[in-house]
Amino acid sequence: MYPKLFIPGPTHVREEILQAQAVPMIGHRAPEYSALQKEVTPKLQQLLYTQQRVYLFASSSSGVMEGSVRQASTKRVLNTVCGAFSKRWHQMTVANGVACDKLEVEMGQAITPQLVDEALAAGAYDAITVVMNETSTGIMNPVAEIAALIHDKYPEVLILVDAVSAMAGAKIEFDAWWLDVCLAGVQKCFALPAGLAVCAVSDRARERALQVPNRGHYFAYDQMDKKYEKHQTPATPAISLIQALNKQMDDMLAEGLENRWQRHKDMAAIVREWARKHFALYSDERYLSPTVTNIANTRGISVAGLNESLRERGAIISNGYGELKEKCFRIAHMGDLQIGDIQWLLEQIDDILGL
Ligand SMILES: *Cc1c(COP(=O)(O)O)cnc(C)c1O
Repeated sequence: MYPKLFIPGPTHVREEILQAQAVPMIGHRAPEYSALQKEVTPKLQQLLYTQQRVYLFASSSSGVMEGSVRQASTKRVLNTVCGAFSKRWHQMTVANGVACDKLEVEMGQAITPQLVDEALAAGAYDAITVVMNETSTGIMNPVAEIAALIHDKYPEVLILVDAVSAMAGAKIEFDAWWLDVCLAGVQKCFALPAGLAVCAVSDRARERALQVPNRGHYFAYDQMDKKYEKHQTPATPAISLIQALNKQMDDMLAEGLENRWQRHKDMAAIVREWARKHFALYSDERYLSPTVTNIANTRGISVAGLNESLRERGAIISNGYGELKEKCFRIAHMGDLQIGDIQWLLEQIDDILGL
């Protein structure tokens, strides 16, 4: 038996969602495909509270992170860094030859509007990258406030948001917050198999991209736009995953978006309370993530050993990320996991550790 996933991606996929992929293949230039994309796109717009374009890329999230930062700027990009994934976005920006600087805080800390304001004040930048939910540390950055500051004071700056471990698990109001790019892979809070990425792009980000000469091709918005109105993509899309996405979006909307956000908060509250009682929380209490909790290993347990025992009982969690290995462990409470799953998991850990 495969263990149930309590790791921050890929996440547990329900049987009905796996089955939704198992339908006959369709041609991506055929009317059946256009009908599928035409059906699923407005549901994604509803999820993100947006009227603007939402693209589907056959890629993991990282591809879209790279593609989006590559077509965001004609001046200089500010990469905010608060952990492993935000650091990766900076490395991608450098590797693509895009002029950039990083604004870095210690692991476990959040990127605040004040820090962003100070960094943008000199006027050197026309784009910023922010990871909404830093999966390596369990921090949720205050993206709405950062975006509000940028909208008020730095109208030239595009705000690019990696919402990989937040989208479909926490509310993101793309239009009301004035975001420009917001992307995620579907293997996290969407609770789908891996291989598909969703990316909302503002009209002004699409206009900016046209000014960038070396904006790439596969992820270029203007390439996607050539087929967008036909409800198609230039390259072959991840058709089976989009079938599953369409089903999952119906299920999410049936659950109710507000209920979905609340379920994530409730699961997070249970894990935090347990963690405070038996261990400690690693990250700044003011910015704790609703989708993943990073727990400081204050008892000096063997995290690898705990995970081996959990595996025998049919579950796995995550060790600390990178330098936090064995110093922390992470429990993901995202996607289609329910309160009962989280309670069951914590009972298993209590039993294994004799807590
Ligand atoms: C998982 C994750 C990524 C990487 O996603 P891939 O789909 O593996 O490319 C990037 N950013 C964050 C915040 C993540 O949690």
